[in-house]
Amino acid sequence: MFDYSAPQDLLKGRVILVTGAGDGIGRACALSCAAHGASVVLLGRTLSKLEAVYDEIEAAGHPQPAICPLNLETAAEKDYDELADQLFDTFGKLDGLVHNAALLGPRTLLDSVKNEAWQQLMQVNVNAPFALTKAMMPLLRTAPDASVIFVSSSVGRKARAYWGPYAVSKFAIEGLMQVMADEQEGTSEIRVNSVNPGATRTAMRKAAYPAEEPEKNPEPAQIMPVFLYLLGPDSKGVNGQALDARG
Ligand code: NAP
Repeated sequence: MFDYSAPQDLLKGRVILVTGAGDGIGRACALSCAAHGASVVLLGRTLSKLEAVYDEIEAAGHPQPAICPLNLETAAEKDYDELADQLFDTFGKLDGLVHNAALLGPRTLLDSVKNEAWQQLMQVNVNAPFALTKAMMPLLRTAPDASVIFVSSSVGRKARAYWGPYAVSKFAIEGLMQVMADEQEGTSEIRVNSVNPGATRTAMRKAAYPAEEPEKNPEPAQIMPVFLYLLGPDSKGVNGQALDARG
């Protein structure tokens, strides 16, 4: 695992938005950020899942989170702008933005992928993170040292056959990260990096490898050190890096 031990109050006073916060790695990230003192904005498409995470954070006595039900497939520019306005009114800044939500999509020969499926996946995995980041920039600039994380994949760094639009979308995410990081370098306090979680025990992993023993892979909670490192002050100055949750 990525070698980092986070102090309990690492994220005290920070406001962190996590997409896909209702399940899998996003849920673990939201819980972990809250446990380390952050006010977490839970963004996702299934309200009941977000409410369950909200209740868990509240029951543990961590800072009160906020819920943002939003379907990244259908969200428009005005939805992101409205969210930015709401966050400005509630928190006045944004210290962390974790682009975690994604679709796996069809894993087949590229020439068998339906155009509609391609577009749906690119909308959620690439277009939405771009639009959300753009809308959040004024809030990120207001924070003293904001951190943006794009959740990537090993197939977004070295492609493999049959990984279809998912792999291509993760290459795009790495590109988005690199362009943004280079633009912020020396011009703002915002750092922008990507994380490859590696095989992790979630619904997406199960869908990609149905025959695999789930116990073979770590739980989402076990891969949190790299996220905490990038979201906290210890990673100030780390920018444009493609990191691995497994170290
Ligand atoms: P997951 O269990 O399928 O969770 C994905 C989350 O994204 C869910 O909360 C889902 O919401 C949300 N989401 C999907 N479409 C959305 C939409 N249109 N609008 C809003 N939210 C949406 O997947 P995971 O394994 O935790 O994956 C998290 C990230 O890690 C992804 O970026 C994935 O590519 C990456 N990753 C995972 C692995 C792995 O082994 N698990 C490996 C490499 C990379 P619902 O709960 O409502 O469906």
